[in-house]
Amino acid sequence: MRHDPSSGPVAARVEALNARYRNHAAIAVLRHALSDPAVGRIALVSSFGAESVVLLHMIAVLDRATPVVFIDTQMLFAETLSYQAEVAAQLGLSDVRTIRARPAALAAHDPDRLLHKSDSDACCALRKAEPLERALAPFDAWITGRKRFQGQTRARLDFFENEADQRIKVNPLAHWRPADVRDYMLNNRLPRHPLVARGYPSIGCAPCTGRVKDGEDPRAGRWRGQEKEECGIHLVNGKLVRGPVADDARQDQEEAAMNVIVTDTGFAADDRGGDFQSPDLPGATALDLAPDADVSVLQGRLEGVDIIRIAFPAFSDGRGFTMARRLRMMGFAGRLRAAGHVIADQYAMARRAGFDEVEITPDLARRQPWEQWQARADWRTHDYQKRLRGLA
Ligand code: SF4
Repeated sequence: MRHDPSSGPVAARVEALNARYRNHAAIAVLRHALSDPAVGRIALVSSFGAESVVLLHMIAVLDRATPVVFIDTQMLFAETLSYQAEVAAQLGLSDVRTIRARPAALAAHDPDRLLHKSDSDACCALRKAEPLERALAPFDAWITGRKRFQGQTRARLDFFENEADQRIKVNPLAHWRPADVRDYMLNNRLPRHPLVARGYPSIGCAPCTGRVKDGEDPRAGRWRGQEKEECGIHLVNGKLVRGPVADDARQDQEEAAMNVIVTDTGFAADDRGGDFQSPDLPGATALDLAPDADVSVLQGRLEGVDIIRIAFPAFSDGRGFTMARRLRMMGFAGRLRAAGHVIADQYAMARRAGFDEVEITPDLARRQPWEQWQARADWRTHDYQKRLRGLA
Protein backbone atom coordinates (compact mmCIF):
# COMPACT_ATOMS: atom_id res chain seq x y z
CA MET A 1 0.00 0.00 0.00
CA ARG A 2 1.52 3.27 -1.12
CA HIS A 3 1.48 6.04 1.47
CA ASP A 4 -0.98 8.80 0.70
CA PRO A 5 1.08 12.03 0.94
CA SER A 6 -2.06 14.04 1.64
CA SER A 7 -2.39 12.20 4.95
CA GLY A 8 0.23 14.54 6.45
CA PRO A 9 3.49 14.35 8.42
CA VAL A 10 4.46 11.25 10.39
CA ALA A 11 3.67 12.71 13.83
CA ALA A 12 0.13 13.68 12.84
CA ARG A 13 -0.51 10.34 11.17
CA VAL A 14 0.77 8.44 14.22
CA GLU A 15 -1.50 10.40 16.51
CA ALA A 16 -4.51 9.79 14.27
CA LEU A 17 -3.70 6.08 13.88
CA ASN A 18 -3.35 5.58 17.63
CA ALA A 19 -6.68 7.31 18.18
CA ARG A 20 -8.36 5.34 15.37
CA TYR A 21 -7.17 1.89 16.45
CA ARG A 22 -6.78 2.43 20.20
CA ASN A 23 -9.23 -0.27 21.20
CA HIS A 24 -8.43 -2.77 18.48
CA ALA A 25 -6.94 -6.21 19.00
CA ALA A 26 -3.45 -7.04 17.73
CA ILE A 27 -4.57 -8.83 14.57
CA ALA A 28 -6.96 -5.97 13.69
CA VAL A 29 -4.18 -3.40 14.17
CA LEU A 30 -1.98 -5.46 11.89
CA ARG A 31 -4.70 -5.87 9.26
CA HIS A 32 -5.29 -2.13 9.16
CA ALA A 33 -1.56 -1.39 9.15
CA LEU A 34 -1.21 -3.50 6.01
CA SER A 35 -3.94 -1.60 4.19
CA ASP A 36 -4.33 1.90 5.67
CA PRO A 37 -2.98 4.55 3.24
CA ALA A 38 -1.90 6.63 6.25
CA VAL A 39 0.62 3.89 7.05
CA GLY A 40 1.93 3.34 3.51
CA ARG A 41 4.43 0.75 2.26
CA ILE A 42 5.18 -1.57 5.13
CA ALA A 43 7.50 -4.46 6.05
CA LEU A 44 7.77 -6.77 9.04
CA VAL A 45 11.20 -6.79 10.66
CA SER A 46 11.73 -10.12 12.37
CA SER A 47 14.62 -11.62 14.30
CA PHE A 48 13.07 -15.09 14.09
CA GLY A 49 13.65 -15.18 17.83
CA ALA A 50 11.72 -16.68 20.73
CA GLU A 51 8.36 -15.00 20.07
CA SER A 52 8.71 -13.88 16.44
CA VAL A 53 6.58 -16.69 15.09
CA VAL A 54 3.41 -14.99 16.38
CA LEU A 55 3.66 -12.01 14.04
CA LEU A 56 5.04 -14.15 11.24
CA HIS A 57 1.98 -16.36 11.51
CA MET A 58 -0.39 -13.37 11.55
CA ILE A 59 1.32 -11.98 8.46
CA ALA A 60 1.05 -15.36 6.74
CA VAL A 61 -2.68 -15.42 7.46
CA LEU A 62 -3.32 -11.83 6.33
CA ASP A 63 -0.94 -11.55 3.38
CA ARG A 64 1.99 -13.93 3.01
CA ALA A 65 3.54 -11.70 0.32
CA THR A 66 4.21 -8.98 2.93
CA PRO A 67 7.95 -8.20 2.89
CA VAL A 68 9.73 -9.73 5.91
CA VAL A 69 13.16 -8.30 6.73
CA PHE A 70 15.52 -10.64 8.59
CA ILE A 71 18.79 -9.16 9.85
CA ASP A 72 21.53 -11.74 9.76
CA THR A 73 24.22 -10.15 11.90
CA GLN A 74 26.47 -13.11 11.09
CA MET A 75 26.77 -13.53 14.84
CA LEU A 76 23.49 -15.44 15.27
CA PHE A 77 23.07 -18.88 16.76
CA ALA A 78 23.07 -21.69 14.18
CA GLU A 79 19.71 -22.67 15.66
CA THR A 80 18.26 -19.29 14.66
CA LEU A 81 19.33 -19.72 11.05
CA SER A 82 17.78 -23.18 10.76
CA TYR A 83 14.63 -22.02 12.60
CA GLN A 84 14.33 -19.08 10.21
CA ALA A 85 14.39 -21.37 7.17
CA GLU A 86 11.94 -23.81 8.78
CA VAL A 87 9.39 -21.16 9.82
CA ALA A 88 9.50 -19.28 6.51
CA ALA A 89 8.87 -22.50 4.60
CA GLN A 90 6.16 -23.76 6.94
CA LEU A 91 4.22 -20.48 6.84
CA GLY A 92 4.70 -20.01 3.10
CA LEU A 93 6.20 -16.53 3.48
CA SER A 94 7.04 -15.47 -0.05
CA ASP A 95 9.12 -12.31 0.42
CA VAL A 96 11.73 -12.88 3.15
CA ARG A 97 14.66 -10.49 2.66
CA THR A 98 17.83 -11.47 4.51
CA ILE A 99 20.08 -8.47 5.04
CA ARG A 100 23.65 -8.24 6.27
CA ALA A 101 26.31 -5.63 6.86
CA ARG A 102 28.36 -4.74 3.80
CA PRO A 103 31.52 -6.90 3.60
CA ALA A 104 33.69 -3.79 3.17
CA ALA A 105 32.21 -2.25 6.33
CA LEU A 106 32.83 -5.46 8.28
CA ALA A 107 36.40 -5.64 7.02
CA ALA A 108 37.02 -2.03 7.97
CA HIS A 109 35.38 -1.96 11.40
CA ASP A 110 35.24 -5.50 12.71
CA PRO A 111 37.82 -7.61 10.86
CA ASP A 112 38.37 -9.99 13.78
CA ARG A 113 34.67 -10.14 14.82
CA LEU A 114 35.50 -8.87 18.31
CA LEU A 115 33.94 -5.42 18.14
CA HIS A 116 31.03 -6.60 20.31
CA LYS A 117 33.49 -7.02 23.21
CA SER A 118 34.97 -3.54 23.05
CA ASP A 119 31.98 -1.50 21.87
CA SER A 120 28.65 -3.27 21.61
CA ASP A 121 26.88 -0.09 20.48
CA ALA A 122 29.23 0.25 17.53
CA CYS A 123 28.82 -3.44 16.74
CA CYS A 124 25.01 -3.16 16.78
CA ALA A 125 25.22 -0.05 14.60
CA LEU A 126 27.44 -1.88 12.12
CA ARG A 127 25.66 -5.22 12.02
CA LYS A 128 22.05 -4.22 12.70
CA ALA A 129 21.19 -0.53 12.44
CA GLU A 130 22.94 0.30 9.19
CA PRO A 131 21.73 -2.78 7.26
CA LEU A 132 18.23 -2.25 8.67
CA GLU A 133 18.19 1.37 7.61
CA ARG A 134 19.22 0.32 4.10
CA ALA A 135 16.57 -2.39 3.98
CA LEU A 136 13.85 -0.03 5.21
CA ALA A 137 14.67 2.75 2.75
CA PRO A 138 11.80 1.83 0.39
CA PHE A 139 9.23 1.62 3.20
CA ASP A 140 7.06 4.15 5.01
CA ALA A 141 6.51 1.89 8.03
CA TRP A 142 7.73 -1.26 9.71
CA ILE A 143 6.22 -3.78 12.07
CA THR A 144 7.97 -4.88 15.25
CA GLY A 145 7.13 -7.48 17.88
CA ARG A 146 7.96 -5.23 20.84
CA LYS A 147 5.71 -5.42 23.90
CA ARG A 148 5.15 -3.29 26.98
CA PHE A 149 5.98 -6.05 29.42
CA GLN A 150 9.49 -6.42 28.00
CA GLY A 151 11.03 -3.77 30.22
CA GLN A 152 11.05 -0.19 31.39
CA THR A 153 12.09 1.25 28.05
CA ARG A 154 8.99 -0.29 26.47
CA ALA A 155 6.48 0.36 29.26
CA ARG A 156 4.57 3.07 27.37
CA LEU A 157 4.69 1.55 23.92
CA ASP A 158 1.79 2.46 21.62
CA PHE A 159 0.54 0.61 18.56
CA PHE A 160 2.00 3.30 16.31
CA GLU A 161 5.20 5.24 16.94
CA ASN A 162 6.82 8.15 15.19
CA GLU A 163 10.33 7.16 14.21
CA ALA A 164 12.23 10.43 13.96
CA ASP A 165 9.60 11.97 11.67
CA GLN A 166 10.76 9.60 8.95
CA ARG A 167 8.80 6.42 9.33
CA ILE A 168 6.04 4.77 11.36
CA LYS A 169 6.83 1.89 13.68
CA VAL A 170 3.88 -0.45 14.23
CA ASN A 171 3.75 -2.57 17.40
CA PRO A 172 0.61 -4.73 17.12
CA LEU A 173 1.56 -6.80 20.19
CA ALA A 174 2.28 -3.79 22.41
CA HIS A 175 -0.37 -4.77 24.97
CA TRP A 176 0.19 -8.52 24.96
CA ARG A 177 1.25 -10.34 28.11
CA PRO A 178 3.51 -13.42 28.14
CA ALA A 179 0.43 -15.64 28.51
CA ASP A 180 -1.06 -14.21 25.30
CA VAL A 181 2.07 -15.13 23.39
CA ARG A 182 2.13 -18.60 24.88
CA ASP A 183 -1.57 -19.20 24.18
CA TYR A 184 -1.32 -17.98 20.59
CA MET A 185 1.57 -20.34 19.89
CA LEU A 186 -0.20 -23.28 21.51
CA ASN A 187 -3.54 -22.62 19.84
CA ASN A 188 -1.94 -22.32 16.42
CA ARG A 189 0.59 -25.11 17.00
CA LEU A 190 3.48 -22.94 16.00
CA PRO A 191 7.06 -24.22 16.13
CA ARG A 192 9.17 -22.90 19.03
CA HIS A 193 12.72 -21.65 18.65
CA PRO A 194 14.83 -24.59 19.84
CA LEU A 195 16.81 -22.44 22.30
CA VAL A 196 13.72 -21.49 24.35
CA ALA A 197 13.61 -24.95 25.89
CA ARG A 198 17.30 -24.55 26.79
CA GLY A 199 16.78 -21.45 28.92
CA TYR A 200 16.81 -18.59 26.38
CA PRO A 201 13.47 -16.71 26.52
CA SER A 202 14.92 -13.83 24.48
CA ILE A 203 17.34 -14.58 21.66
CA GLY A 204 19.72 -12.26 19.85
CA CYS A 205 23.32 -12.69 18.72
CA ALA A 206 25.22 -15.62 20.20
CA PRO A 207 27.98 -13.61 21.92
CA CYS A 208 25.47 -11.24 23.54
CA THR A 209 22.77 -13.67 24.65
CA GLY A 210 22.92 -15.80 27.76
CA ARG A 211 20.61 -18.12 29.62
CA VAL A 212 18.05 -16.62 32.01
CA LYS A 213 17.42 -18.00 35.48
CA ASP A 214 13.97 -18.63 36.93
CA GLY A 215 12.41 -15.38 38.12
CA GLU A 216 14.70 -13.14 36.06
CA ASP A 217 13.45 -10.65 33.48
CA PRO A 218 13.11 -12.51 30.14
CA ARG A 219 15.58 -10.08 28.57
CA ALA A 220 18.11 -10.39 31.41
CA GLY A 221 20.29 -12.60 29.24
CA ARG A 222 20.71 -9.92 26.58
CA TRP A 223 23.99 -8.00 26.95
CA ARG A 224 24.29 -9.36 30.47
CA GLY A 225 26.66 -7.27 32.60
CA GLN A 226 26.27 -4.25 30.34
CA GLU A 227 24.05 -1.21 30.81
CA LYS A 228 22.45 -1.97 27.48
CA GLU A 229 18.82 -2.95 26.96
CA GLU A 230 18.18 -2.22 23.31
CA CYS A 231 20.22 -2.22 20.14
CA GLY A 232 20.19 1.45 20.91
CA ILE A 233 21.59 3.16 17.89
CA HIS A 234 19.08 4.33 15.37
CA LEU A 235 20.16 5.84 12.13
CA VAL A 236 17.78 7.81 9.97
CA ASN A 237 19.13 9.06 6.66
CA GLY A 238 22.60 8.34 8.01
CA LYS A 239 22.13 10.51 11.08
CA LEU A 240 22.07 9.64 14.74
CA VAL A 241 18.65 9.90 16.31
CA ARG A 242 17.53 9.36 19.87
CA GLY A 243 16.79 5.99 21.35
CA PRO A 244 13.51 4.12 21.79
CA VAL A 245 10.48 6.27 21.20
CA ALA A 246 8.94 4.94 24.40
CA ASP A 247 11.78 6.69 26.20
CA ASP A 248 11.09 9.88 24.29
CA ALA A 249 7.43 9.84 25.26
CA ARG A 250 8.22 9.32 28.92
CA GLN A 251 10.87 11.97 28.84
CA ASP A 252 8.55 14.44 27.14
CA GLN A 253 6.03 13.94 29.91
CA GLU A 254 8.60 14.35 32.62
CA GLU A 255 10.47 17.26 31.11
CA ALA A 256 7.98 19.83 32.32
CA ALA A 257 8.71 18.80 35.90
CA MET A 258 12.51 18.42 35.54
CA ASN A 259 13.42 21.88 36.59
CA VAL A 260 15.61 21.63 39.69
CA ILE A 261 19.29 21.88 38.93
CA VAL A 262 21.83 20.57 41.46
CA THR A 263 25.29 22.12 41.42
CA ASP A 264 28.14 22.28 43.94
CA THR A 265 26.60 25.39 45.42
CA GLY A 266 22.99 24.27 45.81
CA PHE A 267 19.68 23.92 44.04
CA ALA A 268 18.80 26.29 41.21
CA ALA A 269 16.12 26.72 38.57
CA ASP A 270 16.71 25.38 35.08
CA ASP A 271 18.25 28.26 33.15
CA ARG A 272 17.62 26.47 29.84
CA GLY A 273 13.92 25.94 30.43
CA GLY A 274 14.14 22.52 28.77
CA ASP A 275 15.44 24.12 25.57
CA PHE A 276 17.45 21.25 24.08
CA GLN A 277 17.55 19.78 20.60
CA SER A 278 18.24 16.44 18.95
CA PRO A 279 21.89 15.90 18.00
CA ASP A 280 20.91 15.48 14.35
CA LEU A 281 19.89 19.12 14.11
CA PRO A 282 22.70 21.05 12.44
CA GLY A 283 23.91 24.02 14.44
CA ALA A 284 22.24 22.99 17.70
CA THR A 285 24.04 24.46 20.71
CA ALA A 286 22.21 22.48 23.42
CA LEU A 287 21.93 18.76 22.81
CA ASP A 288 19.73 16.13 24.36
CA LEU A 289 21.18 12.62 24.36
CA ALA A 290 19.31 9.42 25.09
CA PRO A 291 21.13 6.97 27.38
CA ASP A 292 21.87 4.68 24.45
CA ALA A 293 23.16 7.33 22.02
CA ASP A 294 26.50 6.67 20.33
CA VAL A 295 28.57 9.71 21.27
CA SER A 296 31.27 8.84 18.74
CA VAL A 297 28.89 10.13 16.06
CA LEU A 298 29.40 13.59 17.62
CA GLN A 299 33.13 13.51 16.93
CA GLY A 300 34.00 16.72 15.09
CA ARG A 301 30.51 18.15 15.65
CA LEU A 302 30.95 19.55 19.15
CA GLU A 303 32.21 22.98 18.25
CA GLY A 304 29.64 25.59 19.25
CA VAL A 305 27.76 23.19 21.54
CA ASP A 306 27.59 24.81 24.97
CA ILE A 307 25.62 22.23 26.92
CA ILE A 308 24.76 18.54 26.58
CA ARG A 309 22.06 16.88 28.63
CA ILE A 310 22.25 13.10 29.07
CA ALA A 311 19.16 11.20 30.19
CA PHE A 312 19.21 8.81 33.15
CA PRO A 313 16.01 6.74 32.95
CA ALA A 314 16.83 5.00 36.25
CA PHE A 315 19.40 5.59 39.00
CA SER A 316 20.68 2.04 38.38
CA ASP A 317 21.39 2.91 34.74
CA GLY A 318 25.08 3.82 34.50
CA ARG A 319 25.34 4.37 30.75
CA GLY A 320 25.24 8.14 31.16
CA PHE A 321 28.43 8.12 33.25
CA THR A 322 30.26 6.31 30.47
CA MET A 323 28.91 8.74 27.90
CA ALA A 324 30.05 11.72 29.95
CA ARG A 325 33.57 10.32 30.26
CA ARG A 326 33.73 9.69 26.54
CA LEU A 327 32.55 13.20 25.71
CA ARG A 328 35.24 14.68 27.97
CA MET A 329 37.83 12.42 26.35
CA MET A 330 36.64 13.74 22.97
CA GLY A 331 37.46 17.24 24.19
CA PHE A 332 34.00 18.53 25.00
CA ALA A 333 34.57 21.43 27.41
CA GLY A 334 31.03 22.78 27.69
CA ARG A 335 28.48 22.01 30.38
CA LEU A 336 27.37 18.46 30.92
CA ARG A 337 24.10 17.78 32.67
CA ALA A 338 22.83 14.45 34.01
CA ALA A 339 19.04 14.53 33.86
CA GLY A 340 16.45 12.19 35.29
CA HIS A 341 16.66 9.59 37.99
CA VAL A 342 19.97 10.54 39.58
CA ILE A 343 20.10 10.27 43.38
CA ALA A 344 22.22 12.14 45.92
CA ASP A 345 24.47 9.13 46.47
CA GLN A 346 25.54 9.44 42.84
CA TYR A 347 26.46 13.13 42.84
CA ALA A 348 30.18 12.60 43.46
CA MET A 349 30.30 9.90 40.82
CA ALA A 350 28.54 12.20 38.36
CA ARG A 351 31.03 15.01 39.01
CA ARG A 352 33.98 12.65 38.63
CA ALA A 353 32.56 11.34 35.36
CA GLY A 354 32.62 14.89 34.01
CA PHE A 355 29.13 16.19 34.71
CA ASP A 356 28.81 19.79 35.89
CA GLU A 357 25.27 19.51 37.18
CA VAL A 358 22.31 17.25 37.74
CA GLU A 359 18.70 17.89 36.75
CA ILE A 360 16.03 16.29 38.94
CA THR A 361 12.28 16.45 39.34
CA PRO A 362 10.78 18.67 42.04
CA ASP A 363 9.49 15.50 43.67
CA LEU A 364 13.00 14.04 43.92
CA ALA A 365 14.27 17.38 45.20
CA ARG A 366 11.64 17.29 47.94
CA ARG A 367 12.57 13.74 48.94
CA GLN A 368 16.31 14.45 48.78
CA PRO A 369 16.85 18.05 49.85
CA TRP A 370 20.07 19.95 49.19
CA GLU A 371 21.66 18.86 52.50
CA GLN A 372 21.72 15.26 51.29
CA TRP A 373 23.48 16.17 48.05
CA GLN A 374 25.88 18.50 49.81
CA ALA A 375 26.87 15.87 52.35
CA ARG A 376 27.87 13.50 49.57
CA ALA A 377 29.45 15.99 47.17
CA ASP A 378 32.93 14.93 48.10
CA TRP A 379 34.19 14.52 44.57
CA ARG A 380 36.97 17.12 44.82
CA THR A 381 39.20 14.77 46.76
CA HIS A 382 39.44 12.72 43.57
CA ASP A 383 39.34 15.32 40.85
CA TYR A 384 39.24 13.16 37.74
CA GLN A 385 37.36 15.84 35.91
CA LYS A 386 40.30 18.14 35.34
CA ARG A 387 42.34 15.20 34.14
CA LEU A 388 39.63 14.25 31.69
CA ARG A 389 39.61 17.79 30.39
CA GLY A 390 43.41 17.80 30.14
CA LEU A 391 43.69 20.54 32.72
CA ALA A 392 45.70 18.63 35.30
S1 SF4 B 1 23.98 -8.04 19.68
FE1 SF4 B 1 26.18 -8.26 20.08
S2 SF4 B 1 27.09 -9.34 18.35
FE2 SF4 B 1 24.99 -8.70 17.78
S3 SF4 B 1 25.31 -6.81 16.69
FE3 SF4 B 1 24.92 -6.24 18.82
S4 SF4 B 1 26.92 -6.18 19.88
FE4 SF4 B 1 27.18 -7.20 17.87
